[in-house]
Amino acid sequence: MSSRVIPIADYRQLESLPAIPMDASPPSGLLADTRGRRLHDLRISVTDRCNFRCTYCMPKTVFDKSYQFLPHSEVLSFEEITRLARLFVAHGTEKIRLTGGEPLLRKNIEALIEMLSDLRTPAGDAIDLTLTTNASLLPKKAHSLKAAGLKRLTVSLDSLDDAVFRAMNDVDFPVARVLDGIAAAEDAGFGPVKINMVVKRGLNDDGIADMARHFKGSGHIVRFIEFMDVGSSNGWRMRDVVPSEEVVERISRFAPLEPIDPNYNGEVAERWRYTDGSGEIGVISSVTQAFCSTCTRARLSVEGKLYTCLFAHAGHDLRALMQLGHTDEDIAAAIALIWERRDDRYSEVRTAATAREKKIEMSYIGG
Ligand code: SAM
Ligand code: SF4
Ligand code: SF4
Repeated sequence: MSSRVIPIADYRQLESLPAIPMDASPPSGLLADTRGRRLHDLRISVTDRCNFRCTYCMPKTVFDKSYQFLPHSEVLSFEEITRLARLFVAHGTEKIRLTGGEPLLRKNIEALIEMLSDLRTPAGDAIDLTLTTNASLLPKKAHSLKAAGLKRLTVSLDSLDDAVFRAMNDVDFPVARVLDGIAAAEDAGFGPVKINMVVKRGLNDDGIADMARHFKGSGHIVRFIEFMDVGSSNGWRMRDVVPSEEVVERISRFAPLEPIDPNYNGEVAERWRYTDGSGEIGVISSVTQAFCSTCTRARLSVEGKLYTCLFAHAGHDLRALMQLGHTDEDIAAAIALIWERRDDRYSEVRTAATAREKKIEMSYIGG
């Protein structure tokens, strides 16, 4: 391997890679970016493919039969993912989320989960390993995911109204089968599941109260997400966004809510609990109340590019470093350098013009 290693100075020949000075940070240790934000979470997109065509994420007009998904040869292997994940954990990452595309479509994802669940933080603790899914394959896979070491699950469900949900996923997938998936997750011992509902005005916002009512008292936590201008294909308009404030107000009309503290610094969802003690909900206000100042998330794309923001225009090609035979120390130094230079705060400075710019699609970078 060592004969293939290129000198550190030559990193700069690789497109989108920073030059790595010899005095770059050590290969492990906590990192902070230019705004003092830690590298606490890593989201890994394990496939850019999906069996749904949610109109706000992978609209059929763009993701049609002729759409070129990444060939298998371009996709990170489980060994490559685990190698990179280990370096992130050495740098202080404590939470890893597998996402996509639809992560359960990745063949034998359980093997990757087993590999990642063996990782330990510098303090010797297991990492918080979680996965976001559309639940279509959960009835089949919930038990094997649990057995492989997955800690928690988030399920996406945008409406309990069957006609609305079928139209939103645009592949005629029924609500009942998502509910079966949630039941399978419970049965496998996943305990409370987080349920993501992306709210789009005029499309599914009249189902906010139904969704809250249905899961109130169940132990599961519904999180209402503002429709975001991710990618360039979902036709985002500000007037389609239902502010979280309005969501909380609408639910409070039938079940009073009070705010509660975050579970940890940098938690994306703002937490509210029912005053009658029957559980909690979350709201994710990435558009109306940007939370960039506490954003501790890095994203690894399907083909191994590191993105420091969901709205980034370019990633840093970590796979190229592995393919060129660089050592763990070199790659860890690259990660440190990228994070320490990070200055992203897209949602804080979003304008109508930036919302129209070409950006990376959610299914590629991972939600
Ligand atoms: N396929 C899986 C799923 O749907 O759960 C995982 C990937 S999906 C991209 C991750 C999350 O991103 C989902 O909860 C989805 O609803 C959310 N999402 C996708 N596009 C979005 C958008 N434009 N605005 C807000 N959330 C979005
Ligand atoms: Fe697929 Fe998830 Fe995107 Fe829907 S939100 S199209 S299920 S990746
Ligand atoms: Fe983080 Fe970028 Fe989202 Fe801001 S816009 S919260 S920096 S991912």
